[in-house]
Amino acid sequence: MKTTIPTIKLHDGNTIPAMGFGTSGISGAQGAQSIISAIDAGYRLIDTAYMYENEGTVGKAIRNSSMPREKLQVTSKLPGRHHAYNKAITAIQESLYRANLDYYDLYLIHWPNPKQDLYVEAWQALQEAKRWGLVRSIGVCNFLPEHMEKLKLETGELPAVNQIELHPYFNQEEQRNWNKSHDVVTQSWSPLGFGGDLLQNESLNELAHTHHKSVSQIILRWHYQLGTASIPKSSKFYRQQENLAIFDFELNDEEMKTISSFTKEDGRIRSFLNPATFEEE
Ligand code: NDP
Repeated sequence: MKTTIPTIKLHDGNTIPAMGFGTSGISGAQGAQSIISAIDAGYRLIDTAYMYENEGTVGKAIRNSSMPREKLQVTSKLPGRHHAYNKAITAIQESLYRANLDYYDLYLIHWPNPKQDLYVEAWQALQEAKRWGLVRSIGVCNFLPEHMEKLKLETGELPAVNQIELHPYFNQEEQRNWNKSHDVVTQSWSPLGFGGDLLQNESLNELAHTHHKSVSQIILRWHYQLGTASIPKSSKFYRQQENLAIFDFELNDEEMKTISSFTKEDGRIRSFLNPATFEEE
């Protein structure tokens, strides 16, 4: 039986699935096949980015899949080197041409690049692209409260989504709470901690045993119960299916607290990917 993924409402009236499919590192013919298999498994949101150099692969997979375009959602992201208003407008158009799509469902600023300090212009370009119908919803990734507040102050509009690094070793409680209190949906990137040590964690393995689930399923259920949307990536059909099978069990409060307690101050997968200092090319 195919899983029906619950949806989360955005402040602009649109919705996104509580789980989407990440595509970083997936490209070419084999990549297109992985994305088609993810759609077959039941994923309805595909997350790509200009930076991943696979928007073409995503577009190809969508055209070759059994799902009509309008039943799918596609996210892409604006890279740092194209934040200046005119460049941003052109990059969004180029992003669509690469994928051979008429619109993106969600378009995000990939990194704030605070030193460059052009993210307000980039945001105004996203607002314009939305008015033109090139994108349906607009948001950001890796924005700290100070960046969000500047957008609000200078443009009057907050992003619908803030996609941030979030997994049990980096639970982002403060940023999550900020997003929630401002009606911004949090989307978790690297929700499985990039498939690293986290999946070997002993307590998570015990919880998996208790619930007759896998560690990945326990982690993805934790994201869901936190109220965040996750976008796990897997190139393998059986894992794509496994990751989706989380809507038939529940973690209790104590289990949720235990998983959240694994967070560490230096829990980022790559320490240099700190939005306060990182400048994306
Ligand atoms: P994930 O946390 O999704 O982990 C992916 C890794 O976990 C892969 O190596 C995958 O291997 C493995 N994996 C997946 N499912 C399972 C499973 N059930 N059991 C064991 N291993 C598993 O990391 P990502 O960094 O890919 O993050 C997800 C998505 O987030 C990205 O693909 C991208 O779309 C987005 N992202 C956004 C960023 C941003 O700045 N906005 C930054 C980074 C990512 P395999 O493929 O072999 O199954």
